[in-house]
Amino acid sequence: MECRFCQLRKERVKIVYEDQWVSLFFDMDPISKGHALVIPNEHYLDIDDVPDPVLEQIWKCAKVYVNLLKHYFKPAGYSLMQNGGAFNDIGHFHLHVFPRHSSEEFAWTYTEEVDPTATDFRALRDLLQQPLSQAMAAESM
Ligand SMILES: [Zn+2]
Repeated sequence: MECRFCQLRKERVKIVYEDQWVSLFFDMDPISKGHALVIPNEHYLDIDDVPDPVLEQIWKCAKVYVNLLKHYFKPAGYSLMQNGGAFNDIGHFHLHVFPRHSSEEFAWTYTEEVDPTATDFRALRDLLQQPLSQAMAAESM
């Protein structure tokens, strides 16, 4: 059986950004509005499986995305998180990128109510898709 993220890449409709190495899409169960995942297009489990040029592009995408989050959502800060081995629940490397606001206490298991607009993925995609592609293209120059 194919992994969820390899499947999602085939569906394409949920992808916010993609290039030949990486894809970015929204976490379906967001910790905060704008919570995204950056993945290598190829299936790798852990950071030490991912080739360096792909890792470089993952970090570049995370950097560009953080910059957009600051611009659009004015968070107090942000977090990057990556779980490996048995703690990689999908089995496909993914880097979490999410904005954090000073009013939120972050915990991986959370019960607080999340901003309902955080799951309006269509609106988020409309807002962020084009600037992200433009910023990634500018980074590559
Ligand atoms: Zn996969």
